[in-house]
Amino acid sequence: MKTTDATVLDEPKIRGRATDETIEPAIESRPRPTTGVKEAKIYIDGKFYSEANAKVSVFDHGLLYGDGIFEGIRFYNGRVFRLEQHLERLWNSARSICLTIPMTRQEMTEALLETIRQNHLRDGYIRLVVTRGVGNLGLNPEQCKNPSVIIIVATIALYHEDFYRKGLSIVTVATRRSNPASLNPAVKSLNYLNNVMARIEANLASADEALMLNDAGNVAECTADNVFIIKHGQIFTPPITAGALQGITRSVVFDIAGEFDIKVIEADFTRHDIFVADECFLTGTAAEIVPVVKADGRMIGNGKPGPITTRIIARFREMTHKTGKPIFD
Ligand code: PMP
Repeated sequence: MKTTDATVLDEPKIRGRATDETIEPAIESRPRPTTGVKEAKIYIDGKFYSEANAKVSVFDHGLLYGDGIFEGIRFYNGRVFRLEQHLERLWNSARSICLTIPMTRQEMTEALLETIRQNHLRDGYIRLVVTRGVGNLGLNPEQCKNPSVIIIVATIALYHEDFYRKGLSIVTVATRRSNPASLNPAVKSLNYLNNVMARIEANLASADEALMLNDAGNVAECTADNVFIIKHGQIFTPPITAGALQGITRSVVFDIAGEFDIKVIEADFTRHDIFVADECFLTGTAAEIVPVVKADGRMIGNGKPGPITTRIIARFREMTHKTGKPIFD
């Protein structure tokens, strides 16, 4: 069927009978990583679905254009950690890309808590996604009248405990963090190809994480984590303007450093400053706080997680287990 409407494609020429096999199992037949939750329930727009039935349209601009936003949130010991801050960042991302989240913060909080309860977990990870919604094949978001809200709850094990005891190796990659004037890294968007490209480079170099620089050659962040260094008892991290996400875990480190009476300085620095640092660590909701002991083949400090990093990690673990929004009462 030919049509002048560019959004309607030719019908596929299927020879012979269109069997169930050719139509039905497009998603189910592929191997799928699971949430790790037995009989997981996934929230999509107010309803719960099994993993196999949790699907969105191929016309959702979240899929077609990476047009949407997300948050990764942790809950520990029956409490959601820093929920308010995550929702604040989600709403900021939405405002920046002119996306109207189709519910209030109170409704979103209730949906998140209820999704955790439905999955019967006390510790885990939440992936909260708001897509632009279904439109046509053109990229204009005005076509998308109904953004979709997806909440996935999963068990999590990002880095083995060994990494926290021994530290990670990072490598500087050629892929630069996207320039804030083109796609601002402060927006936690569904468009992560910049980070994915960097991650591929780290994989090819057999490193644990990729260190991404900005266009000026200063350190921006890693593919899913903020970067900190410690020198002469002071903590340094790149400013958000260097092309870093305003990490929630990053802000927890500011709080912990305040408690310890250690100064945190937001300043531009280069990879040289990492090479000569006394200590280095990364922060992220999934990674938590993880020491870095090697950068581009150079040993950092004495090649072991440093004393300040170790103290910060201990305090962070205490906070995650004692604070947060209660899920079950
Ligand atoms: N930078 C990037 C690019 C991220 O995706 C993330 C989130 N994983 C972070 C930094 C860390 O932010 P947060 O501590 O809020 O998870």
